[in-house]
This record gives sequence, C-alpha cells and structure tokens, in this order.
Amino acid sequence: MSSDKDVPPALPLVAILGRPNVGKSTLFNRLLGENRAITMDMPGVTRDRHYATVTQGPYAYRLVDTGGILFGDDHPLGEAIRKQALFALEEADLLIYLFDAKDGYNPMDREVVEKIRASGKPAVYAVNKSDAPTRESVLMADFYKYGVNPLVPVSALHGLGMDELLAPLAPYLPSAPDDPMEAHRLVLGDLSEEEIRERILKRLEEPARIAVIGRPNVGKSTLINHLLGEERLVTSPLPGTTRDAIDTLVTWKGRPYRFVDTAGIRKRGKIAEASEMYGIIRTERTLIQAEIAVVLISTPDGLTDGDLRIIRQVIDARRGLVLVFNKWDATDPKEAPDLTKLGERYPFLAFAPVIALSGLTGKNIPALFRHIDTVRSWYYRRIGTSALNRAILPVVEHTPPPRLKTGAVRILYATQVQIAPTVIHLFSNHPDGLSPTYLQFLTRKIREIHPFTGVPFLLRPRGKK
Ligand code: GDP
Ligand code: GDP
Repeated sequence: MSSDKDVPPALPLVAILGRPNVGKSTLFNRLLGENRAITMDMPGVTRDRHYATVTQGPYAYRLVDTGGILFGDDHPLGEAIRKQALFALEEADLLIYLFDAKDGYNPMDREVVEKIRASGKPAVYAVNKSDAPTRESVLMADFYKYGVNPLVPVSALHGLGMDELLAPLAPYLPSAPDDPMEAHRLVLGDLSEEEIRERILKRLEEPARIAVIGRPNVGKSTLINHLLGEERLVTSPLPGTTRDAIDTLVTWKGRPYRFVDTAGIRKRGKIAEASEMYGIIRTERTLIQAEIAVVLISTPDGLTDGDLRIIRQVIDARRGLVLVFNKWDATDPKEAPDLTKLGERYPFLAFAPVIALSGLTGKNIPALFRHIDTVRSWYYRRIGTSALNRAILPVVEHTPPPRLKTGAVRILYATQVQIAPTVIHLFSNHPDGLSPTYLQFLTRKIREIHPFTGVPFLLRPRGKK
C-alpha cells in the first residue's frame, strides 16, 4: 500500500483468537514489540480484552487479544470470555487464529475455525510454539489435513514467523504513518460535506479514547482503580490473577469509554516514574493513542512546573484536554483554589475545562465524563468554511495584521483542513508575515464564536493558491 498521508478514519482491528494458553498474550506483546501484558502458565489468566494500537513496524492497525474462547465450557468466567470473543469476532476486521503445536488440532479449535469461516473475514491461522523444526513439519501436515489455510508456523515467544504471519493480512492493512502522532487524524482533503459527516459519525460511534496522565502521585492509578471498581467490563475476580488489561473499557450511562494504556499506569514502578525523561516518553506514547487527555493535578500541591510541562505536551500533540484538580477532598475548603480564575492566571489554559475531583472518594466523576463528552464533541467538530470566515473576516477587517515594510499583510480566507486534531489553514499573501501574537489573537476571536472547548487547535498560515 502507499504511504498515503490520509490514514483511514479507523485503523483496522486485528483480533487474536485461540484457546487459553496457546500464546495469545505472548503474540500480542510480540506484535506490540514490547512486553506490555503479563503472561502466566495458567489457563484463563488473560481473561480481559487487551487493546493496543500498533503504529510501529510496517503496518498500522489496532490489535485485540480476546483472552481465550471457551465455547461450551463451565469455567466460571466462561460466559464472560465467550461473549468477549464473540464480540471481537463481530467487531474485528481481520483475524489471527492461534493453534498450539503441542496440542495439535483440537475439537475446540474446530468449533472456532468454523465460526471464523462463517464470518467471512480475512483470517490467518498460525501454529504457535513451533520452536522445534522437526516436530513442526509433522504438525503442520496434521493441520493441513483439516484444510486450514493460510497456515503459518510461528513462535510468539521467540519472534519467529512474524512477517509470514502478517503477510496474508497485508493487503488489508494500511502502512504505518511516518508520524505516529498523526495516526488517527482525519484529513479532509477533497471530501464532500456528506463524506466528512459520515466519517465523523463513524468515529464517534467508537468509544472515546482517553489518556489519564499526570506527575507521579497525583492519583492516576487511584482514579483508574475507582473506575475499574465500579464499572469493570468483567468483574468476576479470580484469586491470584492479575488485572492486566492494556486499556480499560468503562461503561458510563450506557456508553463505552476506553481509558488507554491503563496497564502502564497500574504497573509502572514509582522508581521508574521518578525519572522525568521516562515520564515524558511514557506520556507521549499514551497520548498517541488518545483523543482526549485528562491531566491530573494534585490540589494540595497546586499547579506545578511539572504539571505545566505535561499540559504543554498535550497541547503540542493537539489532543483534547480536561484539567482535573484531584485530591479535592484533601484540601481545606478555605484554602481551595478558585478554578474559575485559572484561565486569567494562565491565558494559554483558558480553552480547557477545569474540574475539581476526588479519585479516592469518586466525588465529581459524573462531571469528568460530562467534560470528556463535551471536549470530544469539539475534537470532532468541523466548522464549515463560510461559518469560519464569518467569524474571522470582520475581525481581520477591524484589526488587520501589522504591515510589513514590504507592504500590507492580507488575510484572504480560512478553512478547516483537518479534524482530530483540528487544523485550520489561514490563507494570506504573506504567510510568513503573520506574527504568533496576531495568530493568537485570531485564535481567541475564533473561540469567541466557536469555542472548541478543550481542543488546542492549530492556525497555520498558508500562501494563496
Ligand atoms: P494465552 O492464554 O493464549 O494468552 O497464552 P499466553 O500468551 O499466556 O501463553 C501461555 C504459555 O505459553 C506461556 O507460558 C508462554 O510463555 C508460552 N508460550 C507462548 N508462546 C510460545 C512459543 O512460541 N513457544 C513456546 N515454547 N511457548 C510459548
Ligand atoms: P499515581 O502515581 O498518579 O498513580 O498516584 P496514586 O494513585 O498512586 O496516588 C498517590 C497517593 O495519593 C496515594 O497515597 C493515594 O491514596 C493518594 N490519592 C490519590 N487520589 C487521591 C484523592 O483523590 N484524594 C486523596 N486524599 N488522596 C488521593
């Protein structure tokens, strides 16, 4: 496929299916290129859905590890897991089915293979744990007998056969974007109004993708735990197992929200987190996957330089922003900051909603979801060219850009060329002559009419065509 900059609105979803213990989590980690989920020598351990967006390597796709299909099994979690796997089978665009070389073709495999065939979705079958070549050839023949095709021997553990595994799916996978930060953007190009609307709606049908970020100890894991405790997708706890989902799907008022990379939040050691560089890289990786960043600030500490650096990262990545003063319960009401004054003190934060919260007690969590919804609706907002120019041109006429020595700087018109993140092109006879101050002024004026609540948008000067 070409390295087209116009990445499709939703990356294809690849589901890894297979019986417990065949190596799905191991493969998931391998494809992600890092060890991000826990694997254990115990069937059924990885019972949650694991999601990740893969943008490294040759292809871009989303990956889900279904955590085991247990058709007709009386495992206590069987029902929940089966539902999840069926959901994945419905939801996924492409399928990877894993067999275990140690077990051969199993009756339970047969049942699922039939379902995969019935789904008509592109699928590749892999015989995992093919670590020993002599046994492998014997086993492969065994699987071929059943007409399973295409079939590839792999070793998820040792990373063998990964290219061969993806090859049959390659025709359906877009190339990874050069800039992973742009993985989910919607470039409008020459799309008609109708097409733009359709793409936005399709995107909005998917769960919001939210990154909970902030300095160490601001309460990220406490908040996630609170959400998990209340709204867990699979809540039957098994003793001795770990919750190791990469993302957490939370249902709030009947709607799904995906908190990305929560495993990172929960598992990260405090020592590793103490390194600032590590924190920055970690935050950036989380932001790539998100539409909206919820930045936690510790109310007792106040807004620190470290917090501002993280907020700056969100603005640079142009993700939606919700500012949260957490640990509100730990502050004496008389000492509590006046959140309505934050935008006056820090004008560059005035665009973002600010709320008080306690992840510990759960106080104000409904407001958090309300603001996430609002910001997301603006994150996917497209202002038509004429509406945009009605907002801009009178301002430009009243307060034109400062003249250059070489002549007047004229602004011809503006048009929104991208959604998620928002980019507006500003056409001018002298694009280089527009100062950052003037662009900030125009941005403020646009926000007076189209607030783009919580959305850091980019006003980019362009030469006239
Ligand atoms: P899941 O239940 O399907 O997610 O399986 P896991 O990924 O948890 O793997 C189950 C066990 O199989 C673990 O002990 C893995 O280390 C092991 N395993 C996974 N892939 C391979 C492989 O390619 N070769 C070998 N020898 N063991 C593997
Ligand atoms: P993380 O490093 O950002 O994940 O922070 P943690 O969730 O581990 O929280 C750090 C400390 O702050 C722990 O002792 C928590 O109990 C405490 N904490 C977290 N959220 C709150 C809150 O809303 N109120 C209060 N009073 N304490 C909190």
